[in-house]
Amino acid sequence: MDGLTRIQCRSLMKLSSHVPRATAHAISRRHASTLATTNAPSTKERVVILGSGWAGYAAARTLSPSKTTRILISPRSHFAFTPLLASTSVGTLEFRAAIEPVRRLGLDEFHQAWASSIDFKNKTIRVEANLRGDVSAATNRPEIKGEEFDVKYDKLVIAVGCYSQTFGIEGVKEHANFLRDVGDARAIRLQVLQAFETADLPTTSDEERKKLLHFAVVGGGPTGIEFAAELHDLIKDDLSRMYPKLQKHCAITVYDIAPKVLPMFDSKLAAYATETFKRQGIRVKTEHHLTRIRRQGHVLMLQIKEEPEEVGAGIVVWSTGLMQNPLVKTLVESDTEGVGKIAKDPRTGGIVTNPNLQVQLQGAGDGSETTTLKDVYAVGDCTSVQGASYPATAQVAAQQAVYLAKQLNRGEREASKPFKFKNWGVMTYLGSWRAIHQSEADNLRGWAAWVLWRTAYLTRSMSVRNKIMIPVYWVITWIFGRDISRF
Ligand SMILES: Cc1cc2nc3c(=O)[nH]c(=O)nc-3n(C[C@H](O)[C@H](O)[C@H](O)COP(=O)(O)OP(=O)(O)OC[C@H]3O[C@@H](n4cnc5c(N)ncnc54)[C@H](O)[C@@H]3O)c2cc1C
Repeated sequence: MDGLTRIQCRSLMKLSSHVPRATAHAISRRHASTLATTNAPSTKERVVILGSGWAGYAAARTLSPSKTTRILISPRSHFAFTPLLASTSVGTLEFRAAIEPVRRLGLDEFHQAWASSIDFKNKTIRVEANLRGDVSAATNRPEIKGEEFDVKYDKLVIAVGCYSQTFGIEGVKEHANFLRDVGDARAIRLQVLQAFETADLPTTSDEERKKLLHFAVVGGGPTGIEFAAELHDLIKDDLSRMYPKLQKHCAITVYDIAPKVLPMFDSKLAAYATETFKRQGIRVKTEHHLTRIRRQGHVLMLQIKEEPEEVGAGIVVWSTGLMQNPLVKTLVESDTEGVGKIAKDPRTGGIVTNPNLQVQLQGAGDGSETTTLKDVYAVGDCTSVQGASYPATAQVAAQQAVYLAKQLNRGEREASKPFKFKNWGVMTYLGSWRAIHQSEADNLRGWAAWVLWRTAYLTRSMSVRNKIMIPVYWVITWIFGRDISRF
């Protein structure tokens, strides 16, 4: 998540302006499908989108149902508004406020499934059904094998995103919590509240309490910092009243290997963030390397290179690094007969596209020359655009998807204008109603930046329903405190 560009009001307002259109699409699609059953078979192109994240969801809602047959394949049947996940993980917001069900888009087809492989020659995707309750765990592929079937496409949009990178560090995959979907947020909320209950037992020693109520965050990018800030608010505003005797044992530490946190911000804003954290009692340990996590009874023991002894923690939230989706890894490594090999970005391992977001094939020779793979496009975190270096952010993913869907609606390809990213700035919440915001136009910090931060996320939430639900939950939290129910 380092290098993230935070979303800002204007781009999300732009996205949200599609809402009525999505509804209109759904209605006209229903109308169109009625006609299709009574008249000639549809001659519309089948556009298949892989993934229901920022890129896939934005593409599906922007594609015109009157011009295309819209098919979405994703293991999860919802879109997750990732910037609000940290708020849901501490009960500031209800989980539902951060998701949008994909089926509300009124698509022609939706398959809750994984794309396992793609036959570019025959324009066919091999798909495996995801039979698991998807909200609870969408981050990793399950062991259980689902039914397999094929889906044909005329045009294919690959938008499968990235996975969390664990750098092969022992115990991270098994014991750390990730924060990439609403199921992850729910797991964190349950574990934090459970740590307080366990610490409150008369049988728990003070030494054990100190470990249980130490919350470690690995990664000093915007996501790690925002989670630490939200957790601080939960403890300070709500849990301190319920467990007053436990307060002296609570601690939050952010670890990062870099010399400073929030490297994408200007040094004054990053220093303000560090100072704010210090005042709030959140420890920031830069140039610290986590080398192992192991479980010991109720707690996790962290081995940190720079610390003389293992450090105990109730929970470790892992928020650093991205790795390629296994499908992308397979695609860039296989050579399809009669088609060729997909070009791979040597730095990120992502799929290389040209500025029109068309997937590129490796050329002959040293591979620097590429050719276009017809009718296949890629957008979002899993891609790398030739001649550009975009950060892996929602802002880039959504803008690319909207650009591409509009091109497909127009039926343009080679002759179209190349994609141009509009950077709307970066922002991060710091706790206690303070934030930082940086853009070409201005830099803001403190309460004013917090108001902007909240306004931006509200205006950018996708549905009218969530635009109503989010402020309602903010008010409920403000009056009655955060939701600390466990279920
Ligand atoms: C907690 C958090 C907070 C963030 N905050 C911000 C922020 O404030 N601003 C910002 O700009 N960015 C933010 N980001 C980054 C942003 O969320 C990502 O850049 C964005 O999600 C990328 O969109 P994407 O569509 O490429 O991938 P994703 O959103 O990851 O979506 C990938 C989709 O593909 C599906 N998929 C995976 N494998 C397959 C397969 N084999 N077949 C079919 N489908 C598949 C997944 O289930 C998912 O639906 C945040 C990220 C996190 C985790």
